Amino acid sequence: MQISFDCPKCLKLTRGEVTQTSHGVICTDCGWTRPVGQGDVEGETPARCLVCGCDDLWRQKDFDQRLGVFIVGIGVLLSTIAVYYMLPGVAMLILMAFGLADWVLYAILPDRLVCYRCHAQYHRVPNPAKTAAFDLEVNERYRQEAIRLKQAEQAAKR
Ligand SMILES: [Zn+2]
Ligand SMILES: [Zn+2]
Repeated sequence: MQISFDCPKCLKLTRGEVTQTSHGVICTDCGWTRPVGQGDVEGETPARCLVCGCDDLWRQKDFDQRLGVFIVGIGVLLSTIAVYYMLPGVAMLILMAFGLADWVLYAILPDRLVCYRCHAQYHRVPNPAKTAAFDLEVNERYRQEAIRLKQAEQAAKR
């Protein structure tokens, strides 16, 4: 599996590869490392976050949202041109074709797993279906936790 995460030490976006034989997650920039323990990974599917140890991950399409918006945008543009040239049938067909392409792309794209707490991303996971999709309630819990941590940090600085 491939992993991309913000290094907890140097805060840079880091990419790495974790296999069954690798001993941990390493930041190539500053050398920060965290060992992968027994039970952290099943096969090559992470059971918990390998960066922060958080038990909650969510599953989503490994797909750049901006690319999706771009594709839909081109479809709308082309169909608008067709309407301008008085070809409503063609405009309909273009919209349908782009809608279908978007749907097919979505269906064949692999999933990635994302950590609720540190937002580390796990790509090319062999068994992503074990992980549940995004849950707003769980996310809210981690959001509140992050706010509390920040407040505690600021209070400690005073
Ligand atoms: Zn680092
Ligand atoms: Zn994490």
